[in-house]
Amino acid sequence: MTLGLRKLILGLAFLSSATGLSGSPSFAGPAPKPIDFVFDLDWTLFYVLPKDTLVDDRFTFRFDDEVYRLADFVPEVLADIESWPGARVSFFSGGTTERNEALLKMLRLPDGRSAWDIAYKVLNRPDLTKVSDNPALKFSKQNKKDLSKINPNLGHVVIADDTEEFVMPNQISNQLWLGATYTFYSNENDLPRIATQYDPPSRAEWKKERLKILSVWEAFRQVYRNRDAARPADFLPAKLPEVSSPCPIWLRSVTP
Ligand SMILES: [Mg+2]
Repeated sequence: MTLGLRKLILGLAFLSSATGLSGSPSFAGPAPKPIDFVFDLDWTLFYVLPKDTLVDDRFTFRFDDEVYRLADFVPEVLADIESWPGARVSFFSGGTTERNEALLKMLRLPDGRSAWDIAYKVLNRPDLTKVSDNPALKFSKQNKKDLSKINPNLGHVVIADDTEEFVMPNQISNQLWLGATYTFYSNENDLPRIATQYDPPSRAEWKKERLKILSVWEAFRQVYRNRDAARPADFLPAKLPEVSSPCPIWLRSVTP
């Protein structure tokens, strides 16, 4: 290398560092406040299947004597939200600490990390807040999820949950309620002729159930698009947005 060329390279290296081109920009403003996207587990991210179900694919897990089936699109949606700058993904479930940890460690994202690896916080049954001792009330009326345990700035935290009003009374607008959720059927032709309240009452409802995590994703995207607002959580839709068909590239990750 000639001396002239060496000087040129050194000069370019100096110019690059002096202008901040190779490092982090020195003119960055204050970092935006983080936004927390929280997911319930049972009947939101996971279905409970009959105990004798064969566990033979990457969507089906066993813990103790229960068999769980991951809802469609969960790995892709979690990975996508986790990639948004300033977004944090957490889980808040009334399940036991041990079970929640096991399920989240079995739930693998497309890049191989687990949901446990990417979680900002994982809150469990002991983290619920007792609001009533009345044994006549349902579990979710006696115990509540307090989202300020995820982020005390309530304008920046939202949760998706299938149990209506499972959050503290002052946090109802922070919850995206999934509405009725149904037993998992991999094939619409398997729907029973006489449906119980837990079976999808129609093929349209079956399809909506299979796409529900994409609907959650769409709702959470509306919150994130408004991340510069004073309270992005106010942009959470009141009900689950309709999603008619999945992004084609994601279809490949779904069992038939
Ligand atoms: Mg649930």
